[in-house]
Amino acid sequence: MRSRIWFVAVLLVFSQLAALSAQELSTGRQRLVANELEGPLLEVHFLDVGQGDSIYVRTPGKKHYLIDTGTRSARKQIIPYLQYLDVKALDGVLLTHSHLDHIGALYYIADAFPIKRLYYSGHVHPSSHNRKTVQRLKDKNVALRRVRAGDTFELEEGVKVQVLHPGKDWNGDVEDPNNMSVVVRLTYGDIDFLLTGDAEKQSEKQILKDKLELKSEFLKVGHHGSETSSTEEFLDTVEPLYAIVSCGEGNKFNHPHASTMEKLRARDITILRTDQNGTIGIYTNGKRVMIKIKGKDWQPVSFLVRPPVNGAGWIVVHNRGGSYA
Ligand SMILES: [Zn+2]
Repeated sequence: MRSRIWFVAVLLVFSQLAALSAQELSTGRQRLVANELEGPLLEVHFLDVGQGDSIYVRTPGKKHYLIDTGTRSARKQIIPYLQYLDVKALDGVLLTHSHLDHIGALYYIADAFPIKRLYYSGHVHPSSHNRKTVQRLKDKNVALRRVRAGDTFELEEGVKVQVLHPGKDWNGDVEDPNNMSVVVRLTYGDIDFLLTGDAEKQSEKQILKDKLELKSEFLKVGHHGSETSSTEEFLDTVEPLYAIVSCGEGNKFNHPHASTMEKLRARDITILRTDQNGTIGIYTNGKRVMIKIKGKDWQPVSFLVRPPVNGAGWIVVHNRGGSYA
């Protein structure tokens, strides 16, 4: 009985805390961001699109980019989310590869928003949906830009993209689009994001051979956390603080694989998953980072609080070697 009273008391305290934090949060994300992080921010949102990948990037100068577009039905999440964020046009879409869980909604997104440029490997698997998609992009005058390892460009001054894969002499294996994945390292100040598409072990090996700087605070885990990606050597070189897995709840591929999760845990890497955390928003001023984890309903005040937490719904981290008291 006594333990029950305690339980109710604890529950009451928690519900009050939850109400309080909801109230604070409802005052708007801008104020919270401004309170915690100073300076122009880069935002990287890993969207909850079920089984698939879609990442929205907003630069400090308010340019808008999308990396992959989930499956066809992901349009129902991506388009309203971009509208909610007041995106009117996309400065670029990076397509890692042409599997349906990455290219699927691009056809519809091209209808909903003007797109300036598509960055891709130069290879699109010739399925009928993909052909229709490419035709739609051409009809809409989207510039197509083939990117290869060694290319670097800036989304705007100070926001750098380094292409790590596929290599210049890699002509693609139609049977294996995963290993044609465009892999990029996105850098703003001291903070790096390694975004891998569905690159598998073979691609990771190729990337490691080039001996470029790969160390990144954030790693988008390759191929939805499948056991075909994330070799020990790759993880030890990238040395991420956070790993993001983009996958659908109860997906038929059993992504992510238990062995991949074990490798991440063994290295003390914090795992964030779109199937469990919903959309994951990462905000950085190039020195410090805040992570916002949202529920699945796109409501701006719906947050899940998960450890390690500093502030309601926000996880505050700092870059390696930095300090935050
Ligand atoms: Zn995929």
